[in-house]
Amino acid sequence: MSVQVGIRTFPLFINGKWEFSSNKETFDVKNPATGDIVARVSKGTKEDVDRAVKAAQLAFKNENWRDMHPKERAKILNAIAHQIVTHAEELAYLESVSSGGTIRRIAQSDILQMADLFQTMAKIVVEYPFSETLPVPPFPGPAHNFVWREPIGVCAAITPWNLPLVIATWKIAPALATGNTLVMKPASYTPISTLRLAELISQVVPPGVINVVTGSGGDVGEALINHPDVDKIAFTGSTEVGRHIMSQAAVTVKNTTLELGGKSPNILLDDADLSIALPGSLFGVFLHAGQLCESGTRLFVPDHLHDQVVEGLVDLTKTLKLGNPLDMTTDIGPVISNSQRDTIMSYIETGKQEGATLVCGGELATVPGCEGGYFIQPTIFTNVKNSMKIAQEEIFGPVLSVIRYSELDEVIEMANDSIYGLAAGVWTRDVNKAYAVVRKLQAGVVWINDWHMLRNDAPFGGYKQSGIGREMGKHSLDSYTQLKHVHTSLVPELHKRTYYQILFSNTDMNQ
Ligand code: NAP
Ligand code: MG
Repeated sequence: MSVQVGIRTFPLFINGKWEFSSNKETFDVKNPATGDIVARVSKGTKEDVDRAVKAAQLAFKNENWRDMHPKERAKILNAIAHQIVTHAEELAYLESVSSGGTIRRIAQSDILQMADLFQTMAKIVVEYPFSETLPVPPFPGPAHNFVWREPIGVCAAITPWNLPLVIATWKIAPALATGNTLVMKPASYTPISTLRLAELISQVVPPGVINVVTGSGGDVGEALINHPDVDKIAFTGSTEVGRHIMSQAAVTVKNTTLELGGKSPNILLDDADLSIALPGSLFGVFLHAGQLCESGTRLFVPDHLHDQVVEGLVDLTKTLKLGNPLDMTTDIGPVISNSQRDTIMSYIETGKQEGATLVCGGELATVPGCEGGYFIQPTIFTNVKNSMKIAQEEIFGPVLSVIRYSELDEVIEMANDSIYGLAAGVWTRDVNKAYAVVRKLQAGVVWINDWHMLRNDAPFGGYKQSGIGREMGKHSLDSYTQLKHVHTSLVPELHKRTYYQILFSNTDMNQ
């Protein structure tokens, strides 16, 4: 038995203050690398959601916040970036011990990306067309018309466990850049880094602008998506829950952004430079133990390269080191939970039963010092048919399916034969060939000779059942604003308003 001391308790974060949930209950947050409890967190209720929404509503009514000049807002966004950088070590630690992400990735990539997102938004927001004037029509009917982009109101941000901090900032940055207020609902496996981030942000924004209610999707999530005073839902998670949210949002016609699952195709063309394509494809699928929504989980390989590619992939995969995510030398950490581990293992079993050939991994892994953790060996299947369950369903674990092809048309057909359309990739030395393929792929992002390269100034989101709307970049501000057209007549004389005669046929407008 291991004795644990100093387990921190996190209450809810409402109206700039820590508050316990109405029923005083808590739930445990575990480290997926060890199974140890790392924190206790308040289990929010419907009443807590009401309180948080009320606080967010009041904060939204504050004109100093809602109507702040973009230049002032840019200062706040930069101040948030500063908060993130100043507290990088603590945020990275909370993120790693709850999500199982390697500290190397979180410290060297996630935290920097988060700070950069707020800095990028600070630049974008001063250029953004919050008001646009339309041309004045000529006499006899001149008018002044303009279009305002106004914030939507109280936004519910519901986030998953794989990249809790990064995905939270994809919602926080555009929401705050445009004068909205937020109630966050982080995933139950990983709420602690979001809670601390909200506290840090609250030091530079008015109380109630950012709130966090932790608790289950069934209680807190449902209360948010059904709340009459929530104006927008920004959700990242599974397609299954996304479908449900969309149907619930219909009841009060809430503005909804959905970032959902993926089963992204990765296509090696016959002229691919294998010295880049092989490590690149493994980077594309095994980063964060395969728990990234845009992972390249289906690798399409031309027949004549197949054996050489598979041999190279297996050799390289064997160099990857599973370990404690807090160890800077670890390449791959655990998967998030014992139930997710069981789901992934059952997919591996399904792959074998479907007739795919297991050429690498396929077993649980034991990491010394992390015996209670949820580790799975990076796994490669060959002889996969695109119609198999392991090629159609999102496994969300370290499992790669290698699928052979002979003709280009055939591979494009298979690549698009999926309910998802989040990401895709092409490896080739011929840029013209690449663009011809890219144009035909149904995906919200396509990488040529690379993977996972998202940019804070570029849109990210899915085609088909991978979602609706885009995050990051100036496009994300469109998702957090609504358009108001304002018309001012410049015609004081009634008789010149000929269009009034459409109603007043019996009245002489010339008098
Ligand atoms: P999930 O089960 O859909 O959960 C996501 C969030 O929704 C969690 O906070 C969850 O709360 C909450 N939730 C669950 N049921 C709900 C309900 N009825 N009403 C409202 N909220 C509810 O997804 P996950 O298992 O955390 O994450 C993995 C999935 O996310 C994968 O499918 C992955 O592809 C997707 N993902 C997509 C992107 C993208 O940008 N497209 C990025 C990352 C991940 P609890 O944690 O309390 O259940
Ligand atoms: Mg889930």
